This record gives sequence, structure tokens and C-alpha cells, in this order.
Amino acid sequence: MEINLRHDKTHKHFERISGRVKWMNILIKNAIILPLAEEDTPLEDMRVAVEKNVIKYIGEIPADFAAEKVIDAKGGLLMPGLVDAHTHVAMSLLRNYADDLPLMEWLRTRIWPAEEKLTGEDVYWGSLLGMAELIKSGVTCFSDMYFFMEQTARAVEEAGIRAVLARGLMDSDEGGEKRIQEAINFYESWNNGAGGRIRVMAGPHSPYTCSPKYLSRVIELAKELDTGIHIHISESAHEVEQSFNKYGKSPVRHLHDLGMFDVPTVAAHCVHLCDDDIDILAENNVSIVYNPTSNLKLANGFAPVEKMRKKGVNVALGTDGPSSNNNLNMFEEIHIAAVINKSVNNDATSVPAVFAVKMATVNGAKALGMDEEIGSIEIGKKADLIIIDTHKPHFCPGHNAISALAYSAQAADVKTVIADGEIVMEDYEIKTIDIERIMFEAERIARNLFSK
Ligand SMILES: [Zn+2]
Repeated sequence: MEINLRHDKTHKHFERISGRVKWMNILIKNAIILPLAEEDTPLEDMRVAVEKNVIKYIGEIPADFAAEKVIDAKGGLLMPGLVDAHTHVAMSLLRNYADDLPLMEWLRTRIWPAEEKLTGEDVYWGSLLGMAELIKSGVTCFSDMYFFMEQTARAVEEAGIRAVLARGLMDSDEGGEKRIQEAINFYESWNNGAGGRIRVMAGPHSPYTCSPKYLSRVIELAKELDTGIHIHISESAHEVEQSFNKYGKSPVRHLHDLGMFDVPTVAAHCVHLCDDDIDILAENNVSIVYNPTSNLKLANGFAPVEKMRKKGVNVALGTDGPSSNNNLNMFEEIHIAAVINKSVNNDATSVPAVFAVKMATVNGAKALGMDEEIGSIEIGKKADLIIIDTHKPHFCPGHNAISALAYSAQAADVKTVIADGEIVMEDYEIKTIDIERIMFEAERIARNLFSK
């Protein structure tokens, strides 16, 4: 049974409606800024002023700017909030439950049967748990595909960060039509919800769980709703082989022929691509989400990131769900992305540090169609900002801020997080949601789930 907690007054602690957010004029001083805009060079000893949810000034702050809150970055790095462009946050409940298995066996024998038992309430707490972890690792925007998405949306509203959410769609059983109806309802109730922090996309799971007819239906739906598509493509060699057997073409070519790329598409994984696939993705401005840890852990292979970068494909970065990772630590993804491609390509210039950091910021924003609003520190953009505490041995000496972020930084160095102009974490303490309560509920749910 799904419990609707939206009006459940026993959860008073979490009643946080978007209207409650009171923006303050924030002044951040004594920071080294990494704007990640046109210019990659860090700006030393800088100030940034935030008015409502927008970056108002950088550098010189007019004397009449009335700061209601001053944050001293103490020489730390101020950078745009990270964008986790592909995840399933509520899978935090299945973290460390089933590991060391191949993708299809993992999905069919462990994950899908466990997910069958999840209720809306479970997904709500699992989403909050995931978001607590995201905030702690500096993520201010994430893109998610799952079910009971209204519960994830409710958790986003409370956590205070930004999200692009998609109800996962598939017709490999008889539930295909019902899922589409849920996706439409979800779009109608939550697109531009939580004070504009939530966007809704269409989320066909993959070309191997959706029939061509069903995919065509979803493409039409995305066009009608004027939204994008979030899908998994060519994650494993087996999937590509299956596609050739069934359709005589690669998953990318198959989706292209169905007209999917007429709609702005965010394609997670894209591990197994031929040159023709990469050309299709580049020509159609499809954004890729690279999930290095998940690909490594499930032994799915190495995405041709450097090849895509050189062909001008927009490559973003994601954690994938926390049960195929098993964390939501974007700094780990940046690090692995930057180091692994060098060895795979036998070329130490492959995926340079600055590109790895941009994958996790500007490229993620672009993938989600939000690059006008977030992803870099520029006047007029939304105030999604994080401060990294660099007064630690692994940052010393301070030669190069970009290298430090890609090769030395840890998620635990994120000290303060501002999302949409609201301080959601200050001095390592999350302000919007109650971590102790969330961990308690998640343990309770996990115990019940696996004792059933
Ligand atoms: Zn995924």
C-alpha cells in the first residue's frame, strides 16, 4: 500500500513548502573563485554577492549592497554546485545489498525483485537519504529516473536543491500504459514545482526494456509536453549485441531512426559506441552522461569519453544509482574520470583535469537544458554555489586549483552549500533536512524490506 505522506501531520519536521524559503542577501568573502565560465583561471581573494536566488555581483561589491549574511570562505575555493546528471537516488536503500554481480543478473535476480516491494514512503526516505549525501558532496542539481517520483519530488522540495526528474518508463511487462499515465500526471503536478527547482522529463528506461512502438509513443509525449528525454543507452556489450540481433542496428542508430534525437536527449552510459554512433550523437546534440564508477563496478567497459570530447559531444558526469556505485560522491567520479581515461587511451593528456571538472558542472547544466541558469559562476546566474575547505594537508601546497579539484579533493571537503540562493549546508551541517531521522528511517525500511 502506498501511503500518502503529503498531508500527514505526523511529519511536521519535514513540512517545508517552497514558499517558506526566505532569501537573504549573502556576501561571500575571501574566496578563490573558479567561475568555470569562458575563463578557466581562478580569481584570487574575491567576493561574491547573492541577492534572492541570483548571483548579483562578483569582485567589486557596491557599498550599498546590504548583506544580511556574510560567509568568510577563509581562502577556500568557491565553485558552482556540482550537477549529478544521472542517478536514481532512492536506490540508496539498496546500497551494499547486492554486489559483485554482472549487470543483467544483478538487475533480474536482486534489484528488480527488491524494487517490487518498495512503497512510496520507502522511496521518499530513500530519496532524502540520497539527497543528504548529495548535499554533503557539493551537488546542487541532480537528474533522476525512478518510480514513485512524486515522493522524490517532495523530498527535493524539502532538501532545497534542484532536480530534473523522470518517471521511469518501460513496457517489458503489462504496466507500460499505466506508467505513461503516471508520467503525465507527474509532469502536470511537479514540472516547475518547488519554486521552480524541479523540472520533469520523459524517462524511457532503455531500448531493451521499451518496444519501438512504446518508444515512439514516449517521443510524441515528450514533444507534446515540450520536455527532454532521459534514457540509458548502450550500457553493456550484451545490450548492443541484442540490438543488432533484434533490429540489425546499434541502440543509438535504432533510437535515431525512431526520431528520438529530435527531442533534447540525455543519454546515460553510452559505453559501447562505434564511430557512426558518436557521429549521430554529435550531429544531433545528444548529451552523454558518463558514469565511470558504475561502469567499472558492473564490468561494463570504458566509455569513449576522449573520442566524444574531441568530436564535440557534450559529456556530463553522473554517479548512477547508489547501489551500483555505492555512493553519490561526485568528487570520486571527477577523479576516476580524469585518471582512468589516461590509462585506457595510453595518453596522459586524455580527459584533462579542467574537462573532468567541467563535466561535473557546466556540461551537466547543458545536458539538462539549464546552462543559461546554472553550471558556472556568472552575474545573473542562479546562486548554486559551494565552498571547498582547502585548509587541509591534501590541498597543500596550493599550486593549481583545478588540479586540486580533480586529483586531490574529497567530498568531505565541501563545507558550505548554497542552492537557489538558500544556504542548505553551512560549516558541514545540513540545514534543511534532519540526517539522523533520515538514517533511522532508512535503516528501518531496509530491515523490513529484506525480512519480508
Ligand atoms: Zn542508471
